[in-house]
Amino acid sequence: MMRACFATAPRDPAWPNEDFVAATSHAALVVDGAGTPVGADTGCVHDVAWYSQALGSALIPRLAHTGRSLTDSLAEAISDVAAQHGPDCDLGHPGSPSATVTTVRERDGWLEYLVLADSPLVLDLSTGIDVICDNRVDLFHQPEPAAMRDHPAGSAEHTAALREYVQAWRQHHNREGGFWSASTTPDAAAHALTGSFPLTDVRAAALLSDGASRLADRFGLLTWRQLLDVLDNDGPAALIQSTRAAEDSDPNGHRWPRGKSHDDATAIHCRIDPS
Ligand SMILES: [Zn+2]
Repeated sequence: MMRACFATAPRDPAWPNEDFVAATSHAALVVDGAGTPVGADTGCVHDVAWYSQALGSALIPRLAHTGRSLTDSLAEAISDVAAQHGPDCDLGHPGSPSATVTTVRERDGWLEYLVLADSPLVLDLSTGIDVICDNRVDLFHQPEPAAMRDHPAGSAEHTAALREYVQAWRQHHNREGGFWSASTTPDAAAHALTGSFPLTDVRAAALLSDGASRLADRFGLLTWRQLLDVLDNDGPAALIQSTRAAEDSDPNGHRWPRGKSHDDATAIHCRIDPS
């Protein structure tokens, strides 16, 4: 039996949440929308929040089709969303909205997983903790350059830095040898990390957008075990509240340099009972 509990919060109440979260009786899913920075062209009339909602909504019913692999289901969902763009959207544009995908599914005594891009899956296994995260983006994607923070949008310095920053990301996104996320090409699904564990070996699974994993993987304030304990004892909303408190203690990013003071934060905690 799987018991799932989740919480999600936008980085700013006035800003749309670009994360999507859902759980069913047998599956859980976190999608974290990603796009090019404000001011960069995207070739699309849709925003990132639209994309993550559309992709999550297309994928979640497909997870019930247990005869289809998670990879095939994701490829179909990406194609489905590509068909929802309109005539004014250029699907070949490298700035099209994109998203991470992290999902688990219970099937025939196994817990299957798929992780595409950098929303971590933390598994509490009988053998210890296993963190599955595709961090290839970090090889190519650097923090926003200082020139973008220090000069106002629209200035020559900001525009030049933005162009360089966006070009670096696009040169490697969804390219062989680069990093992959869900966007307009279904081929990306084949680049996800996938696998499965016997359900009897799994105590719990946590699916996190990177805005909800930072206490462990960026700030170093919690071990993964401690993060799982927060989820188990206090729940996903408490994890997000603790994250906000840490961020508020360092609003300018001096202690923990980061592009955004807050990020959309989503956590699902799935308890697995062998019965
Ligand atoms: Zn579009």
